[in-house]
Amino acid sequence: TKEKLYHAEKLGFAGQIAASIAHEILNPLTTVTGMLQLSESRQQGIMHYDLIMSELERMSLIVGELLLLGKPQALQFKNESCSDIMREVLGLIEIKADTNGVAITCSSIREEWIRCDRNQVKQVFLNILQNALDASPRGSEIRVTLDAADGFQRIGITDRGEGMTEEVLARIGEPFHTTKAKGNGLGMMVVHNIMSSHQGRIEIQSRVGEGTHVDVYFPLAAPAAD
Ligand code: ADP
Repeated sequence: TKEKLYHAEKLGFAGQIAASIAHEILNPLTTVTGMLQLSESRQQGIMHYDLIMSELERMSLIVGELLLLGKPQALQFKNESCSDIMREVLGLIEIKADTNGVAITCSSIREEWIRCDRNQVKQVFLNILQNALDASPRGSEIRVTLDAADGFQRIGITDRGEGMTEEVLARIGEPFHTTKAKGNGLGMMVVHNIMSSHQGRIEIQSRVGEGTHVDVYFPLAAPAAD
């Protein structure tokens, strides 16, 4: 656990640096985007306008995520139900799943209260499911299962997608490490950060061509809490 702890601290520090750089980038980015919009409205006929705008938008999204990383957010820890949070997240990605022709099933074997910040847990589920969807071929299924044992709530997410090589798996959670054309390699870093701020853990198994299985574990709420 000593090594794990060190890892978590390192991520926290990296997050702070990332956020301060993001903050510096945000101002010029906003200015450039604004000026470009203005010049378009004056019909100056800028070449590749749409491409430039969409790339600027992508930069803004990345910067936004970086800002969140280092910000000591006021977390609100409450007793929450994972299936409840999961239901909300599934609603959010329903359209993308439908468009991709991927079915998502959710079943609960056992569920207990966990003590968490609801928005952060939502982000964890969302990022993992988004990766599962990105990897999943049309007609395949993503399975979500909830189970509780040994003081932890487990949420398992299994896809039958492309899977990961050992090299990709070893680097997962490293900022900016992505294999996607439009990826930013921040999703799993955010997941790792949130799991450590919740004293939870994450386990990932993956095989190229077979799929990926992600388990996240949250400690159960103390019976007396709330
Ligand atoms: P991004 O999705 O922007 O690439 P992430 O940090 O969420 O950033 O993921 C990093 C990389 O991990 C992805 O680019 C992909 O290669 C790999 N990955 C994560 N989840 C999966 C999955 N379920 N199946 C296959 N590869 C995955």
